[in-house]
Amino acid sequence: MFIYGPVPSRRLGRSLGVSLIPAKTCTYSCVYCQLGRTNRLQSRRESFFPKERVLSEIRKQLSISEADFISLVGDGEPTLSLDIGWLIQKCKENTDRPIAVITNGSILFRPDVRDELMAADVVIPSLDAGSEEVFRAVNRPHGNIEYDRMLQGQVDFRREYKGQIWLEVMLVHGVNDTEAALKEIRSAAGQIMPDRLYITTPIRPPAEPWVEPPPPDEIIRAQQILGQSFTIDERESGGFGLDSFSGARQAILEIGSRHPLRLEQALEIENEFAESGTVEMMLKEKKLVKISYSAIEYLLPDYFVRNR
Ligand code: SF4
Repeated sequence: MFIYGPVPSRRLGRSLGVSLIPAKTCTYSCVYCQLGRTNRLQSRRESFFPKERVLSEIRKQLSISEADFISLVGDGEPTLSLDIGWLIQKCKENTDRPIAVITNGSILFRPDVRDELMAADVVIPSLDAGSEEVFRAVNRPHGNIEYDRMLQGQVDFRREYKGQIWLEVMLVHGVNDTEAALKEIRSAAGQIMPDRLYITTPIRPPAEPWVEPPPPDEIIRAQQILGQSFTIDERESGGFGLDSFSGARQAILEIGSRHPLRLEQALEIENEFAESGTVEMMLKEKKLVKISYSAIEYLLPDYFVRNR
């Protein structure tokens, strides 16, 4: 399935997620990634799936469920898909739902990628570093992607794009939350001039077990340094759209592979389908593994854990 949700999103309300990328294919292998380490680190763009099938799933899902946004996101970096521009155009023709692209912004230096995102309503790029050194430490990019080129791509995109840019900075304690690192990020973000700046912190089990969010007083300090910004360090709330799933097992695996589920969320899904005992059975079969992060229990598909 290429579609998941709608899922509750901390920025987008009820968001219908669209994945155009095979798991886990990305230009980065961020230390904080909730999908584990990147097993296909690439900067080459491809057409990964038949685009008509993706569109047909979106149409079907929108006919049965409400969503505030269609979000092109998924199991890696969505702009690696050569079909993203076509899909945005088709979604615009078929629905009045706003479209968001959640991207790491790494290949916006390519004019074709910038052109293809022009029709999106909101683009949410990442900027976790203000220097090559911190960039390599936190995002671990593909060898073809240099910091200055990545940043220039985001600056060029801002100049050309008329929609909303909500820049997202993920803070990892001890890596990019020092005063010097934050001042460098402020300077880089100032060049991009986003409509909004979000400060986020890792809340789900990260690719690297040593990754921790900054303590609360450090987050306040980061806000003071980065200037006007929104902080989203709380867990999302609200139910998941389950209409397209045949049962709890499928729903938990499909949603959980893109959006790691807290134990209580998986149990709610089990209840929605009146399939009590599904989570326990999946744990016994080792389809799911229980992991604790920041004192919260998460259920991850077993291959996520093998990939950590
Ligand atoms: S957090 Fe995003 S950009 Fe970073 S490795 Fe994961 S999918 Fe790629």
